[in-house]
Amino acid sequence: MPSRGLKTQAAAALMQRAEAARSSSERASCLREIEQAMERAFGPLERAELYLCRARVRSNQWQTAGVLDDALAAMALFEEAGELGGVLNAASLGAAFASRLGRLSLATELATKAILGLGSLDDDRLVAEVANRLGIFCYSFLDYERAAEQMEVSLAAAERCGDSYVVYRQLHNIADALLLSVRVNRRFSLAPSEDLSAADRQRLGRAGQAVARLLEEAPEEVLARFGSRRLQAELLLESGHPEEALEAVKDAKARTAAVADAQRAALALVESRCLRANGRYRDAVAAAEQAVRLAATSNDDHELMLALEERLAAKQAVGYLEGAVADALDVKWRLWAIHQRQTAQLVEQAWERAALEQQRRQLEATVADAVRSAEEDALTGIGNRRRLERFLTAVASAEPPVGLSLVVVDIDHFKEVNDSFGHELGDLVMRSMGALLGAEVRAGQVVGRYGGDEFVFVMPGVELEAATSFAERARLRAESYPWGQLDGRLAVTISLGVGSGLARDWRSVLAAADEALYVAKRRGRNRVESSGVVAKTAG
Ligand code: GH3
Ligand code: MG
Repeated sequence: MPSRGLKTQAAAALMQRAEAARSSSERASCLREIEQAMERAFGPLERAELYLCRARVRSNQWQTAGVLDDALAAMALFEEAGELGGVLNAASLGAAFASRLGRLSLATELATKAILGLGSLDDDRLVAEVANRLGIFCYSFLDYERAAEQMEVSLAAAERCGDSYVVYRQLHNIADALLLSVRVNRRFSLAPSEDLSAADRQRLGRAGQAVARLLEEAPEEVLARFGSRRLQAELLLESGHPEEALEAVKDAKARTAAVADAQRAALALVESRCLRANGRYRDAVAAAEQAVRLAATSNDDHELMLALEERLAAKQAVGYLEGAVADALDVKWRLWAIHQRQTAQLVEQAWERAALEQQRRQLEATVADAVRSAEEDALTGIGNRRRLERFLTAVASAEPPVGLSLVVVDIDHFKEVNDSFGHELGDLVMRSMGALLGAEVRAGQVVGRYGGDEFVFVMPGVELEAATSFAERARLRAESYPWGQLDGRLAVTISLGVGSGLARDWRSVLAAADEALYVAKRRGRNRVESSGVVAKTAG
């Protein structure tokens, strides 16, 4: 039997045994060996593959939750080992079993991973496995048509690589999905087959072809394992041959004595339906009882719901209405519980998403804060040179190019302020100046402390003349500021230089404004000079 592309020898050998194990004692001893091997395994790849082996055994034991746990553990280890094929293998297995457990969001997440990866796989054996499990995922969420499609993808891949075992399994799965789809469309009724829709007739045809090929090609041992004769019985029943169907059930039962509970449950269910179709209602109830008992051990909502539905119909047929009502209520409550469990997951997801979004926003805010404080002048609280330069770079890269004016401000004789009144008062003056200049700035403009006692206004789209009048207003504001409140003898003025030009030439505009400032200082301070050095602004 193929070992599904496992890379480590120990795991491949164990996988063969896991697949071949028939009886529960064989499976138990296989489990023990796997667990012993896990204790010895060190590398993530080998451990991942051993988890897959155990998942295989557990799935044959109908331990649905255990399979999911193993698949998730394997997926994490394959990711650690950087083994993409393994990741998809485990993700699809996880999707199939999470869906059987009704774990809606987990199943969808894992299935998405598998769907995304499927296209990039070039190993047909793995494609066959992954597509099959996506089929199971669809099947568990009641999309039988899509399930059959995925099973057909798997079938084609299995045929390409000549894996006849998987070919048989997929033929079985395709027929199973299509037959279930027909049953659901008919609302499980046993009405004569003339009532079938054209689409359902076509589905029965496809299922019939798959079953015929399966019975012809697959060895008896494989048929018994999959419970494929049960499909034959279902096909006969849905096609309106209840007596032959019942014969087929008997035949299947005789050959299926030693197989897993999963198939015995499915078979008991078909038996009940066949008995019902043949008017043997009491026997139908007994068969349905057995189907419910077996399905109840499966942890599989889907199987259990089907079995309960059948028991209800059988009880109704026998006229045991009280029992039928009890089953109907049971079905109703189970449906309610399934619905609630699944919707609760959606609710939880909403909260999880909100928490993630909140974290993301907090992180964004922290980053924005960090940027802000890195670009803030500690003393005055206005922007610093970094802020000015980032703004200038941004304006410079605008398309189409824009013009700007720069106003450079320098406090007059500030050294003397420090010398005469002390550094602390110097700092107070600096802070007041920052506030004063900050109050002058308009939307879309920035003022910052360029360094020392020098400030710069960046005014995109403002022409030289307007910027010069602006500078004059700022000069007057500084001059008339109540500096006396800081110290009775204090008077502070500023000098300003204005330059204009294209934003992308801001360095030369700044040099021109600086030059103008120098002229203002030379011409006696407390005044504005503008520079005609740089070409006219572009608007
Ligand atoms: P001018 O009119 O030519 O500009 O004369 P000035 O005294 O202002 O000369 P200059 O610009 O060369 O000197 C700036 C002084 O500003 C020097 C420095 O001591 C002072 N200064 C720079 N940063 C600070 C500060 O953060 N706090 C205080 N208190 N003083 C500062
Ligand atoms: Mg100065």
